[in-house]
Amino acid sequence: MTCYDLHSHSTASDGSLDPDVLIARAIDKGVDVLALTDHDGTEGIAAAQQAAQGTDLTLIAGVEISVTWAKGTVHIIGLNIDPDNIVLQQGLSDMRDFRVGRAQEIASRLEKVGISGALEGAKEYASEVMLGRLHFAKFLVEQGHAKDISDVFKRYMVRNKPGYVTGEWASLSDAVTWITEAGGQAVIAHPARYKMTATKRRRLITDFKDAGGVGFEVVSGRQHPEEVKVLAKLAQQFDLLASVGSDFHTPDNTWVELGHLAPLPESCTPIWTVF
Ligand code: AMP
Ligand code: MN
Ligand code: MN
Ligand code: MN
Repeated sequence: MTCYDLHSHSTASDGSLDPDVLIARAIDKGVDVLALTDHDGTEGIAAAQQAAQGTDLTLIAGVEISVTWAKGTVHIIGLNIDPDNIVLQQGLSDMRDFRVGRAQEIASRLEKVGISGALEGAKEYASEVMLGRLHFAKFLVEQGHAKDISDVFKRYMVRNKPGYVTGEWASLSDAVTWITEAGGQAVIAHPARYKMTATKRRRLITDFKDAGGVGFEVVSGRQHPEEVKVLAKLAQQFDLLASVGSDFHTPDNTWVELGHLAPLPESCTPIWTVF
């Protein structure tokens, strides 16, 4: 059976492996089809494509776009996008600009609680192209402000904490439009991870579908089997395609591995039927 993993990160966003190392690991873990879906950018795709060439692995060009919806953040994955599409790249470039300003703001807020040098410190963990909360989190752990990444997020990097700045990301309809314009399929990432009621989640799915979205992740890394069942049923009710993705960031998270995913329930129509 073909092993699909349609959600992963490299150093082109907040993953810890360079694209070529990620590809090598995916092959080693038995992945046949991998999507590289870095946050708000596609800079890793060329190197990943090159590394996949001449191997049995099929690389899918992807992206994970940060979206502000109902005052909260949700993530929309684009699969099979054309990275050279102007509409998509213009949208992503605006998001990168926002990230630069947000990073400065995060650093100045941390400064106010006595943590200096956070911008430079976070940059040490990031590539040129994207600066995110995980890079700040790594710096804060290094400086001894928290014992690990999960602890540092709770204490610094979430709403109402000193290192949090409200994101004004893309609108849901813009993100879906950019992906569609670039020839891709839009998929809601890890729908069970958002803190929202079942009613609100249905509203998100309805808005998403109205915007032209075609599927969501029914199987995600480190997910409860009960959640898979609930999401499979939702996909059927809304007549949406089902995607699977680990959301792999780093080998340090031993509980999330490339390609190590539960099978899709029989009732689902896999997203790859439209690839
Ligand atoms: P950003 O897009 O810069 O706001 O950062 C979001 C990223 O931070 C996510 O994609 C995760 O990689 C990471 N992240 C968010 N919350 C947590 C958490 N509680 N523990 C570990 N990483 C997290
Ligand atoms: Mn991330
Ligand atoms: Mn995400
Ligand atoms: Mn992700």
